[in-house]
Amino acid sequence: MVVVGAGIAGLVAAWELLREGAKFDVTVLESERRAGGVIVTERVDGFVVEGGPDGVLASEPEVPALAAELGIGDHVVSQLARGTSVWSGTDLRPIEEGRAATLLGIDVKNADLGAGFRTFAGGMGELVAALTARLAGTLHLAQGASGLVRDGTRWRIAITGGSAYDADAVVLALPAWAAGRVLETIGVHHGRSLAEVPYLSSITVSLAYRADQIGRSLEGAGFVVDSDSNHIRACTYASSKFPGRAPEGHALLRAFLQPLEGDPAVVAHRELATILAIRGEPLWSRVFYWNRGLPRYRRHHAEHVAAVRRQLARLPPLAIAGAGYDGAGVSACIRSGRAAGRLIARLMAR
Ligand SMILES: Cc1cc2nc3c(=O)[nH]c(=O)nc-3n(C[C@H](O)[C@H](O)[C@H](O)COP(=O)(O)OP(=O)(O)OC[C@H]3O[C@@H](n4cnc5c(N)ncnc54)[C@H](O)[C@@H]3O)c2cc1C
Repeated sequence: MVVVGAGIAGLVAAWELLREGAKFDVTVLESERRAGGVIVTERVDGFVVEGGPDGVLASEPEVPALAAELGIGDHVVSQLARGTSVWSGTDLRPIEEGRAATLLGIDVKNADLGAGFRTFAGGMGELVAALTARLAGTLHLAQGASGLVRDGTRWRIAITGGSAYDADAVVLALPAWAAGRVLETIGVHHGRSLAEVPYLSSITVSLAYRADQIGRSLEGAGFVVDSDSNHIRACTYASSKFPGRAPEGHALLRAFLQPLEGDPAVVAHRELATILAIRGEPLWSRVFYWNRGLPRYRRHHAEHVAAVRRQLARLPPLAIAGAGYDGAGVSACIRSGRAAGRLIARLMAR
């Protein structure tokens, strides 16, 4: 069976199938030269830099459970600094966590925020590294699926460049806009509603400083911005929020910006310098562009997804998994990947 897409959802789907024992021959196809999708952790001069997600809500059990299965349960670490401020354009003051989430358009319960966040000592990339180590031999990078064709009771996955893989079952663990297009080509009418799920684009900029460059004391884990005169929407004090993010005597900040003209690192530093009284230039900066990074479900989303799944049930084993369907957070994607893997295992056992 073939899993298309090696983001967290696809990796977990493959892991779930492999956990079923030697019963299944699993292949994971990923178009990029690295696995993990939007989960990217880099190490720069002793700093741990997150490009995408930096943690999950501590109230969510999925990441610790998966980490325990993968033998890295003891690498899970909890949030240190707590609390968020709001920048009004002139003033930085503490704010209730729930209000900060609302300002960012994040739908999360106050009770869940109360327990804080968790991550890995070496960043979220640890989860991807542990999964890819377990999936060694099954993971094929730089293998972008360009189409899916039904061949009787089986599937043929066409690969950009001309090769193909045959499979008796497929998990499509792609962003909804990509999966929807594939599904439309095999006659799944509701595929269009998936292809049209809007995804927001954003930019994250990590900036490293010596601690003595920052004039203002960093209270809490960061701030959100409630002012139209800024490009920054929020900033995480990464080195305060989680342990081990920066060498002693240094600070790592991460700014979130909407797509903009110009160099996001220059803009982020300029605005942070004003808000946090930063002197001098950053030691370095790292920009990640997330073109269509995060889905925003529209009205009737759940019904559209259910309709697609009903249509898939009439085809040879084919499942969808990932952020585009039942929740965009890492924990929801783990649940989604596991559910897809279990569904395929059940269908293959018939
Ligand atoms: C900037 C940012 C910050 C975030 N922060 C958090 C956070 O702090 N906490 C949290 O819980 N969530 C966070 N999220 C959300 C969460 O990280 C993602 O929704 C989740 O990781 C998506 O996983 P996925 O496997 O569904 O999709 P992806 O990670 O998008 O994986 C899909 C994979 O499919 C591959 N692919 C695409 N097309 C093809 C093809 N044709 N053939 C083969 N492979 C293909 C892609 O290259 C990719 O590897 C954040 C997201 C972003 C963008």
